[in-house]
Amino acid sequence: MSNIEVLIKALPKVEQHIHIVGATRPDTLLWLVEEGGLKRPFKTVKDVRRYFRYNDFPHFINVYKTVFKCITREDQFERITYEMLEDDARCNVRYVEASFSAPDHVRQGLDYPLLLDAINRGVSQAQRDFNILCNLRIDLVRNYGPNMAMQVLDWIEEKRENVVSVDIGGSEERFPPKPFGRVYQRAREMGLHLVAHAGEAAGPESIWDAINYLNVEHIGHGVTSKQSPKLVSHLLQQGIVLEMCPTSNVKTGAVASLSRHPIRELFEKGVTVTVNTDDPSMFNTSMDNEYLQLHRHLGFTVPELFQLTVKALDSSFMGETQKTQMRKSFVKDYRRLMDHGHEH
Ligand SMILES: [Zn+2]
Repeated sequence: MSNIEVLIKALPKVEQHIHIVGATRPDTLLWLVEEGGLKRPFKTVKDVRRYFRYNDFPHFINVYKTVFKCITREDQFERITYEMLEDDARCNVRYVEASFSAPDHVRQGLDYPLLLDAINRGVSQAQRDFNILCNLRIDLVRNYGPNMAMQVLDWIEEKRENVVSVDIGGSEERFPPKPFGRVYQRAREMGLHLVAHAGEAAGPESIWDAINYLNVEHIGHGVTSKQSPKLVSHLLQQGIVLEMCPTSNVKTGAVASLSRHPIRELFEKGVTVTVNTDDPSMFNTSMDNEYLQLHRHLGFTVPELFQLTVKALDSSFMGETQKTQMRKSFVKDYRRLMDHGHEH
């Protein structure tokens, strides 16, 4: 590994878009299967890796379903969350916004308050052990429709420790944003930040709808925004953030290859883009790997990658005081790394 790649790994990082279930380590997945006495088409870590290959986006969604159904007890989320943050901390990620698809698990018979408690135990333990901070996003899961999403808001109203925003993930091409307008209106009144997956498996109209009907501050993915110059300038003017996940997009077939990923072009146009893993275990990636790929395939320099870090921190839903503190420590770390780099 070259000096520059060592430097890239040492950069402080922020991750805005990661699904807790999608971060389940392969050996932890095998543990879940065993604990639940389940039958699954994988018995070894190698099998799991092979199983995590996708023909297209719907195939990925099906594999994801098989994985989340391996979670049979609320407290299993403590280990999954802790390990997710341990893996992020190894890449010098200092702050994470992690997405929890609550309705998936409640429909499997698990209890929302117990699930949230288990996740937050993992978050607290990781903070003590690795000095990494994590807030939560609740994914309302679009496939269950707006009525279910309203119910999820009821749960959040009852219990929302560390919950900063809502999101809708799932099958975007079959479940467009518009019917979730009232849900998002209510989430906003509850003081939650608003995010939606859009423009990943569907075109720019899906992003327009997320903006116009849901009033989102961030878009998950947004790769197809590139097809519409009018949309790109709107994103730029409104300061709407695109949470991009390059490896994920290549592995689900949303983008043909890393070198053709729109993140470079959008970054150069001044759109606020961030880089994320999405589902690090299911896409066999990490934040280090995402940064390295941007460097290798899209020519991102170290200062540009640090800009991505700062953009991700500034556009995150962390409190302002904490944000200012973290920004200062990032700049300090960055200067130290760059000075050290020049000496050698
Ligand atoms: Zn996602």
